[in-house]
Amino acid sequence: MPKKPQVIVAGAGPVGLLTALALAKQDVPVLVLEAEPALTIDLRAGTYHPPSLELMAPYGITDEMHKTAIRVPRWQIRDRRQGVIVEWDLGDIADLTPYPYRLHLEQHRLTPIILSKLRAYPHADVRFSHKVIDVTQTEDGVRVNAETPGGTEIFQGEWMVGADGGRSTVRKCADVGFDGFTWDERFVVASTTYDYAPHGFALNAYLADPEEWAAIFKMPDEGPSGIWRVIFPVPPEEEEAVTLSEEMVERRMQRFLQRKERYQIKYKSIYRVHQRVAKEFRLGRILLAGDAAHLNNPMGAFGLNGGIHDSFNLTEKLGKVCRGEADPSLLDVYVRQRRTVNLEYVQEHSIRNLKRLNERSEEKRKQNFDELRRQAASLEGRREFLQVSSMIASVRRANAIR
Ligand SMILES: Cc1cc2nc3c(=O)[nH]c(=O)nc-3n(C[C@H](O)[C@H](O)[C@H](O)COP(=O)(O)OP(=O)(O)OC[C@H]3O[C@@H](n4cnc5c(N)ncnc54)[C@H](O)[C@@H]3O)c2cc1C
Repeated sequence: MPKKPQVIVAGAGPVGLLTALALAKQDVPVLVLEAEPALTIDLRAGTYHPPSLELMAPYGITDEMHKTAIRVPRWQIRDRRQGVIVEWDLGDIADLTPYPYRLHLEQHRLTPIILSKLRAYPHADVRFSHKVIDVTQTEDGVRVNAETPGGTEIFQGEWMVGADGGRSTVRKCADVGFDGFTWDERFVVASTTYDYAPHGFALNAYLADPEEWAAIFKMPDEGPSGIWRVIFPVPPEEEEAVTLSEEMVERRMQRFLQRKERYQIKYKSIYRVHQRVAKEFRLGRILLAGDAAHLNNPMGAFGLNGGIHDSFNLTEKLGKVCRGEADPSLLDVYVRQRRTVNLEYVQEHSIRNLKRLNERSEEKRKQNFDELRRQAASLEGRREFLQVSSMIASVRRANAIR
């Protein structure tokens, strides 16, 4: 690292790495501190919306993703008993984006792409096994303590970006509240090589059911035949070991689609799901982005996509501040834009999406389906729905806030 970093980023998840990359591209010296010894592998995000693909395209990331990712132009809202309620086609908004589809690629296949781009910048440094344990700030800088294999090290910079996930140490050090709630039900994710397409499933479908809703996503995994991820709710009283046992996973998969053979399950994991937004996205020289700033349930795929939008919004402004071209108050525009749309849009629609799936009242379910069918009946209605669900509307709304 030739120069002292101007910006220290906590977390080498997708949001932290994108933040570092966008700053490095603007010649800002940046240091990323990551707690884990290597990039993490998990079964979380996998669906990218058009604005995220547009934002990552100038860095060559989007092209790289397309080499292995799956394009999903059509996706469904279904009822587990009635079948398809509505099938949406992003072709209806093809005039609004060069990427009229959802793109499926596991989060852990995206992060190595970003890291390889970041490695091209000599003024960007990524240190693994460096866990941020404390952050303090003065009028002109931040001081970060990190636990490293060689003991505690101190790093100094001008700005700190906390992209260290939902349990963010940076957010806690800045003493920023994280208001919201945690859903009673947890989510189990199981991946199978069994092909659901011949049964009429689009490559992404959400299935409403009063007892056990579900969601499915075709992912590339290690090759073109790909893998299907299935998500189910887990009741609060069920023990994690039971949920992840072979028998219980098999039982849920058979209930979803009955077949004589057992399912081949390649991956399985369980998640607790929250709806929370940090009280502040900026505290002086400390900024929050991605899951460190907000959490939502994954029905709609707004979490990481929202984090990607945070990252590019923030770095465009922070780059100007670092180069002395703008007053630090410009960073408050980031807060207004991104915090507002998280509350108005991500929280609101992710909660609505999950409630639509797990609604128990027959009457309310019928109303929900009637409303969806009405909206899908006209091109105008479909375009309105698709602009919201693909996050085009939220990015526009954020950009309109001053
Ligand atoms: C089941 C499920 C499915 C999902 N599907 C989608 C989807 O399809 N689309 C979507 O947009 N979102 C989805 N999400 C949400 C998405 O996974 C997250 O929003 C996303 O991972 C956030 O990225 P991030 O970089 O902010 O945080 P993370 O991915 O959590 O990365 C944080 C990084 O910080 C590191 N770290 C933590 N603490 C420290 C510390 N003290 N010091 C240094 N480093 C630290 C961690 O090791 C990690 O590498 C899903 C979530 C779940 C649970």
